[in-house]
Amino acid sequence: MAKLYFNYSTMNAGKSTVLLQASHNYRERGMQTYLMTAAIDGRAGTGRIASRIGISEQADMFRPDDDVFAMIENRLNQGRVACVFIDEAQFLSDDQVWQLARAVDDLDVPVLAYGLRVDFRGKLFPGSAALLALADEMREVRTICKCGRKATMVIRQDENGNAITEGAQVQIGGNETYVSLCRKHWREAVGD
Ligand SMILES: [Zn+2]
Repeated sequence: MAKLYFNYSTMNAGKSTVLLQASHNYRERGMQTYLMTAAIDGRAGTGRIASRIGISEQADMFRPDDDVFAMIENRLNQGRVACVFIDEAQFLSDDQVWQLARAVDDLDVPVLAYGLRVDFRGKLFPGSAALLALADEMREVRTICKCGRKATMVIRQDENGNAITEGAQVQIGGNETYVSLCRKHWREAVGD
């Protein structure tokens, strides 16, 4: 039986690197994988999953209204796929996570979704909330805070290094940077 996996982390934990390595392991053994990522700026077509350590792969992009079940079915009709990998899974809608669950159950293909658990306000992303509810298996991609403890939270900083506590969940093309912290240091940074 195929399963739906959710690999979650905070920012800069290297989840794209883990995804690309896992996909590479299949391809090295002669198996095909299907890579998908979010079209954050709304463009359809082919995008890339890029890791901060310099490796990248082509990936099909999903937009908020795309039927990801249909995208996977379409790809399977072109040839066998051992595994579907999805990056930026926090941007999936609730409906799209159900579509992934249907792909796993009805098309019998494993789906590995990689995404951020919470945003800079400490709130679950909708796609991550749905994945936490529906995934068969979950795994944490870990990174550490400046203090050495596990980082589970993220702050958005302005150009002066001050934590921003309000604003849209997704910021495109801004000058903000993100820093991953443990909960204690996140609370300190946001003035709790
Ligand atoms: Zn800390």
